[in-house]
Amino acid sequence: MDLLSIIIPVYNEEDNIQLICEQIDLQVKDNYEIIFVDDGSTDSTFYVIEEQSVRDHRVKCISLSRNFGHQNALMAGMKNAAGEIIILMDGDLQHPPSLIPSMIGSINDGFDLVHTFRRKNKNGSAIKTITGRLFYKFINSISDTRIEPNVADFKAFNRKVLNSILKFKEKELFLRGIFSWIGFKSTTLSFNAPPRLHGQTKYSFGKMMRLALKGTTSFGFKPLRIALLLGMFISITAFAFAVFALVAYFKGETVPGWASLIIGIMLLGGTQLLAIGLIGEYIASLFIEVKDRPVYLIDKTVNIEPEH
Ligand code: UDP
Ligand code: MG
Repeated sequence: MDLLSIIIPVYNEEDNIQLICEQIDLQVKDNYEIIFVDDGSTDSTFYVIEEQSVRDHRVKCISLSRNFGHQNALMAGMKNAAGEIIILMDGDLQHPPSLIPSMIGSINDGFDLVHTFRRKNKNGSAIKTITGRLFYKFINSISDTRIEPNVADFKAFNRKVLNSILKFKEKELFLRGIFSWIGFKSTTLSFNAPPRLHGQTKYSFGKMMRLALKGTTSFGFKPLRIALLLGMFISITAFAFAVFALVAYFKGETVPGWASLIIGIMLLGGTQLLAIGLIGEYIASLFIEVKDRPVYLIDKTVNIEPEH
C-alpha cells in the first residue's frame, strides 16, 4: 500500500494534537505519516507533538523558527512529505478525519485532486461568515481564476499534483487559487464543519483582508485594468466638461461654480489615489518576489530529516 502523508499546520493547538492523532488512527488503516508543521506556536504544541512522536514514529514534526502563516506552513509540510497520496487538513478538528477514507477512495478511483466543500460553517461568528462570503465575491469579480467559496484547505491529492504545486516559486502564495489554477482531474466532497473544539481561530479580520489582497494581486491584472478603465472614463468626462465650461465662459455664462469644481477635484483625486494604491500593491508583490527570501525557516524537526 502506498504511503499516505497527512500534513497538519498547527499554531497554538496544544489541546487538539492528541485527539486528532487518535481520530486519524481510527479512520486510516493504511500506511501513513502525520506531518505536523508547528508554525511558531507559543504554547506547548511542540512538546505535545514530540511526546506523541516518541510513542508513534509515524507522527513527525517540522517546527518553524517563528510564525510564518498557514499557507507557508502548508508549503513546508508539502516539501517534506514522502507519501504517494497527500492530505492537507487543519489541526483543530474542523476538518473531520472521518472524511479521509472517502477522499482516499476518490484518489484510488482515478482522481488526481480531491477538494472538499464546507456545507455548513458552524464556526459561530456571523462576521466571519459574512466577511468570508464578501471575500470570495470580491476575489471572483476581479480574478481571472475562479476560486470556489467554502472550498476548504482540506484536500487530498497524488504525487503528480504535489510535484506540480512544488514547481511554483511564488513567495506570495495563495494556495486556494493555485489549486484551482493547476487543473488535473478533480472532484469535490462535502462535509459539515463542527465548531472548533479547543483554542481560538487564528484568522482574524486583518489576516482575512491580507489574504484577500494576496488573492487579488496574485491572480491576474483585472484590478489594474479596472483602475485604468475608470481613469479613462473620468478623463473623457472631464474633457467633455472642460469643453462645456469653455463654451459657457466665452458666452459669458460662468457662475462661481464651486460645487462642480470641488466634485471634479475630489473625483479625480480619488480615482488617482485608487489607481496608485493598486499599482502599489503590485509593486509590493514584485518587491517581495524579487527579494527571493525563503517563505519559512525550519528550527528543528522530529522523526523527519528536513529538506535542503
Ligand atoms: N494556522 C497556522 N498558522 C497560522 C494560523 C493558523 O498554522 O498563522 C493553523 C491553525 O493552527 C489551524 C489551521 O491553520 O490548524 C486553520 O486555522 P484556524 O482554525 O485558526 O482557521 P479557521 O478555521 O478559523 O479559518
Ligand atoms: Mg479552524
